[in-house]
Amino acid sequence: MNVLIIGSGAREHAIAWKLSQSQYCEKVFVAPGNAGTEKFGTTACVDTHNFEEVAKFATDFNIMMIVVGHENALVEGIHDYFQSTEYLKHILIIGPRKAGAMLEGSKDFCKMFLEKNNIPTARYRAFTEDTYREAVEYLRNHSYPVVIKADGLAAGKGVIIAQEYDEALDALEDLLRNKRFGNASSKVVIEEFLVGIEVSVFILTDGKEYILLPEAKDYKRIGEGDTGLNTGGMGAISPVSFVDDVFMQKVKDRVINPTLSGLQKDNIPYTGFLFIGLINVNGDPYVIEYNVRLGDPETEAILPRIKSDLFDMFCALHEHRLGSFKLEVDPRTAATVFLVSGGYPEGFEKGKEISGIEEVDGDVMVFHAGTKKVGDKLTNNGGRVIAVTALADTMDGALAKANAAAEKITWQDRYYRHDIGFDLKPSGVA
Ligand code: ATP
Repeated sequence: MNVLIIGSGAREHAIAWKLSQSQYCEKVFVAPGNAGTEKFGTTACVDTHNFEEVAKFATDFNIMMIVVGHENALVEGIHDYFQSTEYLKHILIIGPRKAGAMLEGSKDFCKMFLEKNNIPTARYRAFTEDTYREAVEYLRNHSYPVVIKADGLAAGKGVIIAQEYDEALDALEDLLRNKRFGNASSKVVIEEFLVGIEVSVFILTDGKEYILLPEAKDYKRIGEGDTGLNTGGMGAISPVSFVDDVFMQKVKDRVINPTLSGLQKDNIPYTGFLFIGLINVNGDPYVIEYNVRLGDPETEAILPRIKSDLFDMFCALHEHRLGSFKLEVDPRTAATVFLVSGGYPEGFEKGKEISGIEEVDGDVMVFHAGTKKVGDKLTNNGGRVIAVTALADTMDGALAKANAAAEKITWQDRYYRHDIGFDLKPSGVA
């Protein structure tokens, strides 16, 4: 069976790497891919926003399954497009239809869904430009810090944690009045700030049954000690030391099961990954967000721990046998460290030659993100450039290997955080 993966990040590189190990998977294609995905899949030159083009490629290359790595194509309705076209219906899409993708595509929809299904989350209210004055009043009476979020997709940049009223007002004006994210910020969600430690939980589901994947913790801020601007993610750890059976049972009972039954009640079909961003508040899970695909960099930490055949897991989804699927997981700890271009997440220069990948130990995995081949040279072509993942019996062991690999791979001004996992260490703040 031939598979097409949509996306160009280290997440899609990791998915291609994992699928290429399957004895059932014949050919892997990645659209648009990057300089690293070529090793595991053929690059497909397709505009992934143009579903007709994707459909033509799928037909020409006998694609039977499409794994949608990032949220945009899902929110734009790629699954619906394939379902509504007679000759494309048989292609299995890993990723929900538009209705399910709204869990990520609209924070207001997500919060309404959470409240309706009694799933623990921060208290909130949504406002539009028409209710701007009410929003100002709401902020005046709110406790601080307060969280202000653009309703739509803003690539992780649409969330502002305001420490005081004036800062919150500026954020409100920027999002709602100045439409900083265009239509994505024509509505905002203002919510209570929760104090706790975050963890990401992932399931693969057909909307009824599910497989629970290994959990992970990601590190979003650019600076060490979780300081500075938010990024797409600077590293990840899996498993997460504070996630024990008791916590995970609460996640199943209070979050996963009500989420799936809520989708069923609303007749929202769902096939694919569901990423649940949680915050552990004194031992209780609260939902911060849903993502309708895997996370990046969490994927680079969790897929190397999954011993089961990923392609077989997708077939189990298709054949409704996820409930009896026995997931095999490597008990070791995976540590992922992301190397980024100097200046990221603000301005940075592209086109610098990357060296040292060949010096990395053979058992460390190197996943490409913003890389590009120029002649026979590998160059940086984005903010987040390369993720390295190492496995070891302990988190410290995995981090030592991942950090040693990160040190070897270099280009002008490359940067990485040396403190991934700091808050999971006994001496950390967790
Ligand atoms: P991303 O794309 O990075 O996942 P996003 O734009 O979808 O982000 P959220 O995940 O809702 O937005 O929020 C981003 C980050 O802001 C969270 O990971 C968390 O650190 C912080 N955050 C969001 N909501 C809250 C909250 N209610 N209390 C405390 N922190 C929060």
